[in-house]
Amino acid sequence: LAAGLTPRADRLIEYLHRLQDTHGALHADHLAALAEALKLARAEVFEVATFYHHFDFVPAGAEAPPALTVRVCDSLGCALAGGAELAASLATRLGADVRVQRVPCVGRCDSAPVAVVGQKPVLNADADKVAAVVASGERAETMPEAIRFDAYRAAGGYALWEAVRSGARDAESIVAALDHAGLRGLGGAGFPAARKWRTVAAQPAPRNMAVNIDEGEPGTFKDRHYLASDPHRFIEGMLIAACVVGIAGIWIYIRDEYPALRRLLAEELDRVRAAWPDLPPIELRRGAGAYVCGEESAMIESIEGKRGMPRLRPPYVAEVGLFGRPTLEHNLETLWWVRDIVEKGGDWFASFGRNGRKGLRSFSVSGRVAKPGVVVTDAGITLRELVDEHCGGMLPGHELYGYFPGGASGGILPARLADVPLDFDTLAPHGCFIGSAAIVVFSQHDQARLLAENAMEFFAHESCGQCTPCRVGTAKAAELMKAPQWNAGLLTELGKTMMDASICGLGQAAPNPMQSVLRFFPHEVGAAHQEKTA
Ligand code: SF4
Repeated sequence: LAAGLTPRADRLIEYLHRLQDTHGALHADHLAALAEALKLARAEVFEVATFYHHFDFVPAGAEAPPALTVRVCDSLGCALAGGAELAASLATRLGADVRVQRVPCVGRCDSAPVAVVGQKPVLNADADKVAAVVASGERAETMPEAIRFDAYRAAGGYALWEAVRSGARDAESIVAALDHAGLRGLGGAGFPAARKWRTVAAQPAPRNMAVNIDEGEPGTFKDRHYLASDPHRFIEGMLIAACVVGIAGIWIYIRDEYPALRRLLAEELDRVRAAWPDLPPIELRRGAGAYVCGEESAMIESIEGKRGMPRLRPPYVAEVGLFGRPTLEHNLETLWWVRDIVEKGGDWFASFGRNGRKGLRSFSVSGRVAKPGVVVTDAGITLRELVDEHCGGMLPGHELYGYFPGGASGGILPARLADVPLDFDTLAPHGCFIGSAAIVVFSQHDQARLLAENAMEFFAHESCGQCTPCRVGTAKAAELMKAPQWNAGLLTELGKTMMDASICGLGQAAPNPMQSVLRFFPHEVGAAHQEKTA
């Protein structure tokens, strides 16, 4: 507050970050003072401070954590690359002055395993590398070499935005181009973008916009790739959307695991505001380590300064969203494509695609492939084509055994289904979905059951706890999945209850990897063969 922010309850999470950045942890007396300054009940501040994984709340009289934390990712890609073993060896090697935490995906699965020293990522990490960074005192993430404002503008950037804001380019032609391209929400839900714009534009003003850069789905790192290379292409798309839909205020929510990108975005937004001072207000908000905040209504709760608890719908966020107003919510990548689609035409985007599908997709590929990374290619490409044409094939000594087509929540497919087109809707007959197109490839040296167990533990850790089937079901399933022989009947029943009775996508999708193992890899868990004809 002393740093010049106007006290606002919706900025509670920003204040908590400032307190923790300054004092190393959140102390009870500081929280009490913050509650008073914001005119909130202490319980409201404490419940938020204890909800998010990145906040270290220290109760009165308790000992604060060590000054340095090393986070070691143990989600799918890093698990395959030895993340858990790395965490165990670092815990012994770094001693009591350094806290070593196993954490979910940090969005760098192409460089697994990954450890983060303070805020400094150590890629393709081993204990020696991490110990060297700890000893060096390096704690900050390096700023990426992105295309900055002047270079972007000099290359023709923002010409479209200026045409839209001046009225030289009419709004309906923009929406029609997105419609023609078949652009869908690329955060995972796949809702048609043009329909969303029209729906929100038809709602009464004022209308808000929320941009989701929380990509927490294990295996996903495409938004980081786009933001680190060409941030203004996204910002221009965002401004065009705001202009077309008639947006009064924009909130951008970026995950806490991307500190350099947050700084980059803040700097570049300042340049944009300086160029066009009459823009709607744009606020950059910092997540605090909660996967569930990638869910659209949970993200809205978080931006409002609350725990990231998904809302019951209806009403949908397009009608009653951020601060009670109709809200256009988009993932970064969806907006990133707007300029190209409008400039080159919907036909251009729709001209890509294979195996009967249309458009471009950004696949985050990790695991046992020779060249992991973000691959921008045809919608409908198959896993076999993707790995052979773009990823240099499998790693030497590894043969394809299976893959996650849509991160931890999208289920698992066996090698014999490597020729299924990867796109929205195409995987449903196999009990899977593509989501944010996070492809995690594994080989004969791995076990699908262990990866499914990893995914279920992740969901149990990340459940917001609001509904019983998800809160209890994920923990119970993770426990049952440790048995050498799975109780297929009980797990199937549990999975069905979670899918039918959970409020949000986390609980509804959590059983997918487990059910994929029962269906496609029953020999690993001693279950009767359950596969139905796909
Ligand atoms: Fe929370 Fe899970 Fe329910 Fe979603 S399904 S609201 S994460 S408890």
